Amino acid sequence: MTSSDTPRTAFVDRHLGHVPDVDAFAAGTGFDDLEALVDATVPAGIRQDEPLDLPPALDEEDALAELRGLAARNRVVQPMIGLGYHGTVTPPVVRRNVLQDPAWYTAYTPYQPEISQGRLEALLTFQTVVTDLTGLDVANASLLDEPTAAAEAMTLLRRATRAGDDAVFLVDTDVLPQTRAVLQTRAEPLGIGLVDLDLGADEDPDGDAVAAALDGRPVFGALLQYPGASGQVRDLRAVVAAVDAAGGKVAVAADPLALTLLTPPGEWGADVAVGSMQRFGVPMGYGGPHAGYMAVRDGLQRLLPGRLVGVSKDSAGNPALRLALQTREQHIRREKATSNICTAQVLLAVIAGMYAVWHGPEGLRRIAQHAHRQVSRVAAAARAAGHDVVTTRHFDTVTITVPDADAVLARALEGGVNLRRVDDTRVAVTADETTRDAHVDAVARALGAEAPAGDDLPAAGGPLARTSGYLGNEVFHRYRSETGLLRYLRRLADMDFALDRGMIPLGSCTMKLNATTEMESITWSEFADLHPFAPADQAAGTRQVVADLERWLAEVTGYDAVSVQPNSGAQGELAGLLAIRGYHRSRGDEQRDVCLIPASAHGTNAASAVMAGLRVVVVACDEAGNVDVDDLRTKIEQHGDRLGALMITYPSTHGVFEEAVREICAAVHDAGGQVYLDGANLNALVGLARPGRFGADVSHLNLHKTFCIPHGGGGPGVGPIGVRQHLAEFLPGHPLEPSLAGNVVGPVSGAPYGSAGILTIPWTYVRTMGPDGLRRATVRAIAAANYVARRLQGSWDVLYTGRNGTVAHECILDVRPLAKAAGITVDDVAKRLVDHGFHAPTMSWPVTGTLMVEPTESEDLAELDRFCDAMIEIRAEVDRVVAGEWIVAESPLRRAPHTAEDLVGEWDRPYDRRLGVYPAGTTRGKYWPPVGRVDGAFGDRNLVCACPPVSAFGEPEAAPDEVSVVEVAGEEPALVR
Ligand SMILES: *Cc1c(COP(=O)(O)O)cnc(C)c1O
Repeated sequence: MTSSDTPRTAFVDRHLGHVPDVDAFAAGTGFDDLEALVDATVPAGIRQDEPLDLPPALDEEDALAELRGLAARNRVVQPMIGLGYHGTVTPPVVRRNVLQDPAWYTAYTPYQPEISQGRLEALLTFQTVVTDLTGLDVANASLLDEPTAAAEAMTLLRRATRAGDDAVFLVDTDVLPQTRAVLQTRAEPLGIGLVDLDLGADEDPDGDAVAAALDGRPVFGALLQYPGASGQVRDLRAVVAAVDAAGGKVAVAADPLALTLLTPPGEWGADVAVGSMQRFGVPMGYGGPHAGYMAVRDGLQRLLPGRLVGVSKDSAGNPALRLALQTREQHIRREKATSNICTAQVLLAVIAGMYAVWHGPEGLRRIAQHAHRQVSRVAAAARAAGHDVVTTRHFDTVTITVPDADAVLARALEGGVNLRRVDDTRVAVTADETTRDAHVDAVARALGAEAPAGDDLPAAGGPLARTSGYLGNEVFHRYRSETGLLRYLRRLADMDFALDRGMIPLGSCTMKLNATTEMESITWSEFADLHPFAPADQAAGTRQVVADLERWLAEVTGYDAVSVQPNSGAQGELAGLLAIRGYHRSRGDEQRDVCLIPASAHGTNAASAVMAGLRVVVVACDEAGNVDVDDLRTKIEQHGDRLGALMITYPSTHGVFEEAVREICAAVHDAGGQVYLDGANLNALVGLARPGRFGADVSHLNLHKTFCIPHGGGGPGVGPIGVRQHLAEFLPGHPLEPSLAGNVVGPVSGAPYGSAGILTIPWTYVRTMGPDGLRRATVRAIAAANYVARRLQGSWDVLYTGRNGTVAHECILDVRPLAKAAGITVDDVAKRLVDHGFHAPTMSWPVTGTLMVEPTESEDLAELDRFCDAMIEIRAEVDRVVAGEWIVAESPLRRAPHTAEDLVGEWDRPYDRRLGVYPAGTTRGKYWPPVGRVDGAFGDRNLVCACPPVSAFGEPEAAPDEVSVVEVAGEEPALVR
C-alpha cells in the first residue's frame, strides 16, 4: 500500500507486468482467480498465509528518501588502509554507460553466444588485461574476489600436481589477512594442511625459508603476495625455485596496478596469478562486488575454475566469441567439477576492462606512479620525523614504526584520512589514484612531520622494475576520446540481448525486473566509497542496511539468523554446508560426511558438497520428477550414522511443488541428518511458505534472482544463507570484523558483509513492495508460468506438473519427441527464438533435451503472448520438417539465428528469405544478432582466450585458426543454457 497522501502509483503495480484483465488472465491459467490457482498448486501442508512481518510498502520516492537517510549515516573518509581495497575513480563514461546502463546490467551469462558478442568481447578484453599484466598465458573471465581466487588457486595446484593427501600448502605470512582466513576455511574440510612461510623483511629472500617451513613434508604449492600486505616488494625468484625443487607450484596474489611498474609473476616463474581488479575503476562498496581474477601458465587452462571466453567462428566462417572449455564447469561435471563457481563478477570485469581501455598502458602507469609517489612522500615525511620506515622497497604501501599507533590513527582521522593499524606501534599507509597532496599532508601531520616536496623519490621496484610491454592490442589505444569510448560501449551493448530488449525466460534464473529505483543508490558515494575495514562508526548506514535485510530475509524464509556474506548462490551453499558440518562436529559426529543430492539438483550443489569435505550420494527422481522417496529411504538406511545432509531444491528444479517435502525433511532428521534447502527458487515461495518452517535447517537465497539484483551478464550475485537457531553459531565469521571474529567457521568471502555495496537493491525492493506486494509477486510468477504452460498445450509437452496439473513458477518443455521425429534439437528452438526477438529458455537442464521456461511476474501479458506465439510458430516449422517439406539441415530452424547479412546476397535456401529473417510477428525494430550460429567445438580445439589482432574481427579471411596458439585435445563440446 502506498501512503495515501501521495498521488503516485504503488511500486508493486510497476514491478508486476501489465495485465489488462486479471480475470481473463486467471482464466488463461485454468482457474477462476489466481488464489484458486495457488491453492491448487502449493501444498496445503506447507502454506502459511499470515502476512509477513515486514514494514509496509513505501512508494519509490519515499523509499529513496529513507535510504538517503541511511546513506547520511555513513561517513566517507579518504581510504589509506590498503589490504586489497583502494580508492579509484570509475570513469564517468563507464559509470553511466556500463554500470548504470540496463543494456549491460540486465544481461544474462553469455551462454547464448549469438546474442552476447558485446559482453564476450568486453570479457575477452578483461582477460587480455589480466594476461598482459601478470605475464601469464590464459586468464578466466573473473572470479568472486581475491581471497576466494587464492583458494581456487590452492585447489587448482593440488589437482595440477596430483599431490598426495599429506602434501601441504605454503602460505606467505605477508599475505592479506582475509586471504589467509578464507584459505583456512577452504583448506580445512579438504584436509589440506596450511604451513606459514615467513620470508622475513628481506628484499631478496633466499629459498632457505621454504625448506625450514616444510621440515621434510611434501608440498604441492605455495601462495605468495606481491607486493606483500606490509607493502614490501620482494624478489621472489629464489623462493619460487625452492618450492619448485620441493615439487610444488607457485601461485602469486598480485596487485594488477603494481604490475604496470613491477616485473610480473609470469616472468619470474609463477604458475598462477590471482588478485582483485577492484582498483581498476570498481567502487569499494564496503567490500564488494569486485572482479577477482586468475591467470595460469599454458598447460593449466583446463583446470581453470569459472568461465573462460574464447574465439571461435560462426556458421558463415566469421570470427565469433563464446565461452570455452565448458565441460570443466559445475553444470556439467557436478561433483567432479574444477570448482563450484557459477555466478561470477561479469559486470565488474567489464568495468575493469574498460578502465584499462580508457586509460591505456600509459594512463595506468601514470596512475601507478602517482600512488607510488604519494606514498613515497609519506615515507620521506615519516623518516624526517624520526620514525622507522620498515618497508625497504615499496609500491603503494609502507609500514611505519611509531610510538603510539592509535594516536597516529586518531590524528590522521582528524585530517580526514583512514590509516591501517598494524599493531600498537606500527601503522601502514597506502596511496592510490585518489590520494591528493592534502591527504599526504594530513598523514605527515599525523606523524608529526612536514610533508616534503617529493623530488628525488626512488623509482618503483628498483631491480624489479618492469621492462616488458603490455596492453599493446589496438583496443587499448583506440578509445581515448569520450566520444570514441561512448560509441564503442554503445556498439558492444547493441550486439547483445538483455532484459531491456525483451523477455529472458530462463528457468531457475529468475530474470525479473531490476527497477531503476532499486539501482540508483549503488553509485551514491556514501555507499560506494566505503573501505570494508573502515571503522564501524563510519559505516553505520550500510550496517543498518545489512541488519534490516538480515531481519527481513529471516522473516521471509522463516529462519532465525541470516548472513549476507556469501558472494554468490554457490558460495552460500558452501557456507551452509560448512554450518552443517560445524554443527555435526560440535556434537562429536565427525563421521557424518555423506551428502544426499537428488539427480535433478543444480550442478553447484554437488560441487559445493565436495568443497565442504562431503561425499556426494545421488538420490533418484521418480517419473513425475519428484525425489524418489523410496530411494531416499534406502540411501538413508544404507549410510546410517554417516548421513550428514540432504540438499533439496524447493520447489524442485522440475518446476513442481513436491507434496512430500515435509516427509522428506522428517526422514532425514530422524536419521540424524540436516536438511539444506537450495532457495534459488524462492520466487515461488515468498509470502506463501517458509522453508525454515516446513522442515529445512539452512538455505541460501539468490538475491540476484528473487530479490532483484541484476545478473550483470553473469554477476555480481549475493547468496545469503538463513539458518535455524541451532546452526546460527556456525555462520561465516571474519577476522577483521570484531562482531564476527569469534565465529567457529571462518569467512567464505574477503569482506565481512560480502558484496555490501549492492545490498541496497534488495533493501529497496522489499521496502517498496511490502508484505502484500511480495506475496502478489509470487502469485503472479506462478500464474505467468501456468499461463504459458497452458497456452502452449497442444504445441509443446510440459514434462512435469503437480497433482492438479499445474506447474510452479517455471515449466519444462520437452523437445525430445521432436528430436526423434524430425532431428530438431533444443539449440534449434533456442536459436530460432532469437529470430523472434527472445532470449532462449534454459537449455537441457535439469533434463537433457528440454527447455525450461520461467517467465517471472514482471512480464506484461502482451510479452507472454508474444513468446507463446513465437513458440507456436516454431512448432509449426517443426511440423513442416516432419512433413518432409524441408530437411532439417536446410530448415529455418537449423539455419537460425538469421543475421542482417542474410538479407543481402545469394539466397540458396529452400525457404523464403522473409520467413527466415522476419518470422511471423516480428517487425522492423527487431533484434539482429551480429553473428550466425557459433561453432563452440572449433574454438575448443583452437583455444584463443585473449584479444586477437583487431583485424581478425569482421574480416573472414583472418579465421581464428590462423591466430590459434593452444591445441586442446579430447574436449567434448557441450553447451548448456
Ligand atoms: C542459480 C542457482 C544456483 C547457483 O547460484 P549462483 O549464484 O549462480 O552460484 C544454485 N541452485 C539453483 C537451483 C540455481 O538456480
